[in-house]
Amino acid sequence: MTETIWFVNLKLVYNKIFVNYNYNMPIEIKKQLMPLNRKDDLQGQMRELLKIHYGFKDYRPGQAEVINNILAGKSTVVIMPTGGGKSLCYQLPALILEGITMVISPLIALMKDQVDSLERIGIPATFINSSLTLAECYDRLEKVKNGRFKLLYIAPERFYNNEFKNALAGIKVSLFAIDEAHCISQWGHDFRPSYLKLKEIIKFAGQPPVMALTATATPEVRVDIIKQLDLENPEIVITGFSRPNLQFGVIQADEGRKPEYVMDAISSAPGQSGIIYVGTRARADELLSYLLQNNIEAVSYHAGMEAEDRRWVQENFMNGKANVIVATNAFGLGIDKKDIRFVIHYDMPGTVEAYYQEAGRAGRDGRPSFCLMLYNSRDRYLQEFFIKGDNPPPEVILKIYETLLNYNSDKVLITYAELGEMITESMPDMAIGTALKFLEREGYILRSREKAGSAYLKFNSDFDAIVNSLGPRAKIQIEILNKLNGKFFSELKNGWDINFEEAAEIINVKKDSIIRLVRKLSDEGLVEYRPPFRGTEINILKRAELENVDIDFTAHKNKLKKAYEKLDQIEEYVYNFGCRQKYILNYFGEKDVENCGKCDSCLTKNGYLRKHEPPRKKILSRWHRGAAGKKTGNFAMSENLAPKAKLSTKLTQLDTLELYNNGLSIDKIAEQRGLKESTISAHLGYLIEKGLIKNIDKLVAPKQQNIIIKAIKKAGREKLTPIKEELGDKASWDEIRYVVAKMKAK
Ligand SMILES: [Zn+2]
Repeated sequence: MTETIWFVNLKLVYNKIFVNYNYNMPIEIKKQLMPLNRKDDLQGQMRELLKIHYGFKDYRPGQAEVINNILAGKSTVVIMPTGGGKSLCYQLPALILEGITMVISPLIALMKDQVDSLERIGIPATFINSSLTLAECYDRLEKVKNGRFKLLYIAPERFYNNEFKNALAGIKVSLFAIDEAHCISQWGHDFRPSYLKLKEIIKFAGQPPVMALTATATPEVRVDIIKQLDLENPEIVITGFSRPNLQFGVIQADEGRKPEYVMDAISSAPGQSGIIYVGTRARADELLSYLLQNNIEAVSYHAGMEAEDRRWVQENFMNGKANVIVATNAFGLGIDKKDIRFVIHYDMPGTVEAYYQEAGRAGRDGRPSFCLMLYNSRDRYLQEFFIKGDNPPPEVILKIYETLLNYNSDKVLITYAELGEMITESMPDMAIGTALKFLEREGYILRSREKAGSAYLKFNSDFDAIVNSLGPRAKIQIEILNKLNGKFFSELKNGWDINFEEAAEIINVKKDSIIRLVRKLSDEGLVEYRPPFRGTEINILKRAELENVDIDFTAHKNKLKKAYEKLDQIEEYVYNFGCRQKYILNYFGEKDVENCGKCDSCLTKNGYLRKHEPPRKKILSRWHRGAAGKKTGNFAMSENLAPKAKLSTKLTQLDTLELYNNGLSIDKIAEQRGLKESTISAHLGYLIEKGLIKNIDKLVAPKQQNIIIKAIKKAGREKLTPIKEELGDKASWDEIRYVVAKMKAK
């Protein structure tokens, strides 16, 4: 734990400024001491804190205004470009506001880093998201109540849980900050239904001042944010979107030549950090292997990767071990790397907002950097495909609802692909997902987290035959097979609901390696294998006859229209003959903008670069002269590709045990952990067998236990099926499992 380590360094500084004040004191004493020194000079106090914690002498544009609004208790919408210093706007007042500043952020993966870096500069902060156990959540809330922290980061999905919401009662929220506030608007490019809950939470928290922050909001998104959050006459602070150190350019390129342009651009900024955005995961992989073949030390990042790998890639890019990252738009939200010298768009993105946000990750340190877009007229088709996936027609939405209603239960566990097959239209998974999102927003359904079920695995041949089939060279695979067989001999022989995550943890081998091995054996018919189920649990909240479904599709249709308009506008950016920076700023509503004087249009007058395909190197190097800095050390790829996965040695069953001991029911545990109930039951069986749960009376009534024990005596306890056959409907599978486990434990 990093608790209060920062305090040691800051104690002295604090004592100098605020007499006898430090964060280690009980909250009551703090409250009394806090205004001692600068009671009458709040502004002065804020500036001292700015200096102590951030090392800045002065605010950046807009920050002072926002902070003053908040200190005056006024809700404020903050629109600042990426890297403009948004987060300081709520972090700094948080230090002197009495209660807690609650920060809502969708960037779960980054919360820990954000909190760590706050702790490093002496600001006590913590976070709550799905990576924590229930017990940890409550522990942190308790500390918040005790005044241990000034900032609390929360993922908005948490508010779906009423228990959690209620646990917030009694916490004094002085400021409610909403990061990435455009996520609340369907006009934005990243709508998230969970954000619609925030209005209710703000009320629940007693209507503290709200700060809604975003880097990309067109005038209409701005209006929507205010409306959706129910803010009454909020202040709006917009700071300039102009990024004078960025140099923009577009090259029209044949598909086949794009990789060469990328190589040229990279070689013009040797040893520097850069991001290359691509339109799809497949293209990320493609371009990555091209770059590696050309000795560029690159890594790639997309949402299809395992979380562990994504984290590793991100870390290596952040700490400069990998210079170039090839990524889909899944990468970058909240990334705070200041020295990115270039951002290349390998494919045209879908909107100017997306483009400017992504390109704007270059040059946050204020040093010259370049933003290049490679454009091919076919790029538009890819974006149209996304738009279609993002905007399924109303008939499809209703059809999906109807399909769900056909289930008797209000809980439906299903994959998007299955749902897609059930409705007759051929719809990509993405459109199904969007349709569900839509129904969710309209209050007809609620989606829980994705659920993953076990896979099934059984040896068809005897172990030696399987080993022999792999051949003597497959040493690593044989080793994995040996480990599996060593731990799970009888399971593999009799058929096993394998959970790859758990198995990987137990035998300490990467999950993917096990899966690859199993697939190979399955292809050769040596094992019986059924891949794991991956689906979504859908809760039907409202049952209505189709003709009574009260959904206004006008907004939906407008959104589709809007998406095409936005696509036209980014394409216009490509074909635009004027200054590129100016085009973008005009798009965001800024008027009276001067030409930047350094984009390709400004430099070459009327887009020389675009119209001809001149000798590339020459033009590129002339164009972003100054963008490239000094060469830095090389990235030793081989070293850094060393194993990075730190597998947790804690058994997943122990997490279940903790929740079980806290008195949670099986379905609650399953919900909390995002696992299937059957998985939790299996965990309980394991825990009973290992003697970690001694008394099973709560799970199976004592009388029932006796009935089952009798059946076990008849049928033996090696297999559950004969016992079940013996008992028929008199006992459930789970009950039998628990009693058998109990007997084995003795
Ligand atoms: Zn220009």
